[in-house]
Amino acid sequence: MELPKKCIIAKNYWRFTNPLNPYIMNMPLTMDYTKKQQSRYIKQFQKNKEELKTDCHKLWREICFLKAKGKCEYPKCYNPATQPHHIKTKGGYPYLKYDPENSMALCYYHHDGGRYGAHHDINFKEIIIKNGVRTKEFFDKLERKADKGYKLDLELEFLYLTKLKQELTNK
Ligand SMILES: [Zn+2]
Repeated sequence: MELPKKCIIAKNYWRFTNPLNPYIMNMPLTMDYTKKQQSRYIKQFQKNKEELKTDCHKLWREICFLKAKGKCEYPKCYNPATQPHHIKTKGGYPYLKYDPENSMALCYYHHDGGRYGAHHDINFKEIIIKNGVRTKEFFDKLERKADKGYKLDLELEFLYLTKLKQELTNK
């Protein structure tokens, strides 16, 4: 089907027809709608920004725990993971907030609760690398990504996280 170029629906078409997006099905593609009507049509399926943020965070957290198989990732810790840790801080790197690579599943003690926790021990990263939990290359790559910086697209992020969670769950 030929899509009209200046059509809002067409612009958003690939997102809304993405089979991973559970919110949009069978959107009628037509120029019979005015731009305003198109916007309104799209809006009824769109999650608002706050909903998207909440859902992205939820998915990010679930993926973090799924990847770690529910255990705290700190070396020789056998506690269940209860807290997802942002390796690069949310405040300093908001665009990495929902990045699954920017996460580590930890217990309360190894996150924020104890002196060996990620937020207190200045040697935390070194210990993580030394024990093979993450490689130095992993951290370098994350640093490069953090340096670059980019604009967060919540809808895209949501679709990506939904897909990743599906993959991890089906493993
Ligand atoms: Zn732990």
